[in-house]
Amino acid sequence: MAQTALDYSVFSKPYSSLSLKERQWVKSSASQYGTPLLLLDCNIVRQQYRALSAALPGVILHFALKPLPHESVVRSLLEEGANFDLASTGEIDLVASLGVPPEQTIHTHPIKKDKDIQDALSYGCNVFVVDNINELEKFIPYRDRVQILIRLSFRNADVFADLSKKFGCQSDDAIRIMFRAKALGIYIKGLSFHVGSQTMNPKKYVEAINACNALMQRVVSIGLPALSTLDIGGGFPVCYSKEVMPIDEFCRPINQALSQLPETVMVLAEPGRFIVAPSVMSIASVVGQAQREGKHWYYLDDGIYGSFSGLMFDDADYPIVSLREGIKNYPSVLAGPTCDSIDVISENILLPKLKNGDLIVSRMMGAYTSATSTDFNFIKRAQTIVLNEQKGDEIQVV
Ligand SMILES: *Cc1c(COP(=O)(O)O)cnc(C)c1O
Repeated sequence: MAQTALDYSVFSKPYSSLSLKERQWVKSSASQYGTPLLLLDCNIVRQQYRALSAALPGVILHFALKPLPHESVVRSLLEEGANFDLASTGEIDLVASLGVPPEQTIHTHPIKKDKDIQDALSYGCNVFVVDNINELEKFIPYRDRVQILIRLSFRNADVFADLSKKFGCQSDDAIRIMFRAKALGIYIKGLSFHVGSQTMNPKKYVEAINACNALMQRVVSIGLPALSTLDIGGGFPVCYSKEVMPIDEFCRPINQALSQLPETVMVLAEPGRFIVAPSVMSIASVVGQAQREGKHWYYLDDGIYGSFSGLMFDDADYPIVSLREGIKNYPSVLAGPTCDSIDVISENILLPKLKNGDLIVSRMMGAYTSATSTDFNFIKRAQTIVLNEQKGDEIQVV
């Protein structure tokens, strides 16, 4: 009884009601495994990877493990021919244990300990990112075998996470790093950036690509070695509760900007959220209830410190539905299982009258959810059930 559990016909529009098939899956999974549960559907991981590959022809996709470092995701993507974007020794250990060839990986953390560099090199990953001269100089002992990307900063106030606030440098700094690298004999392979996670407007990529293109020309004009690579990072948006552009439409202006680069430049991207966000559905149970100040409070067995951690760290607006359908809906509050008062998932959600044991389902729970969950209050994290890891396979508990 395998096959697709999560039924997404439209990915760019909010899609919160459950199909009949999904309702059956939710019920049978909850009764078989208990809750809280996360259903991870590898078919959707593959589908997202293929959709982005088709939307960015010629761009080499490195899946960023950060939003969902799960072995079934890595295995499914490896089969699809994906490359990987790593940022820590833990992530290196995961891909190494699954037999990912190191040539298919890059290490993109801009700030590293010497041990991090050594761990990556002993695995065989030799592409690294720097955004300052202090970091560049860490590579002096390894200069004969590393290839460096310089990360540029393009600020973006409109995103869930403005990743250019903490990392990245300006064009002039990049030139200084390149001169220093030349003097040290360290190979600068190219440029990278990250316009910010869940970027809703492709213009941000276009601006960044154009600025990198101009910088690449300047590099040659001042006699520095030509750059061979541009890494356009992650940030591709998915639909939570607000509509987003379909991915092919979103990537059209990006492709247009990329077509202006010299033909010799190889282009990479580091998608994380886009690949995994739709692939996971969470199931929690109502374990208790109360009336507080005119509202129905329902206490669940998963919350802010668990799978819904993205409400704190990621600002995501997950589509949450109740399996029970009622004639009348009431303003309700969904709270998590810890004793902390910030552990509230939704302060104002319309729900029918629920009973203890009723199931609450949330979609789009694949990115920055379980990855950032904790076991605060010593409450166990949700169990992940993997679906469709192989075509037509059985359910596996991980
Ligand atoms: C987090 C991160 C990504 C993935 O970003 P998404 O917004 O999830 O696509 C890619 N590259 C780097 C360097 C990151 O830090």
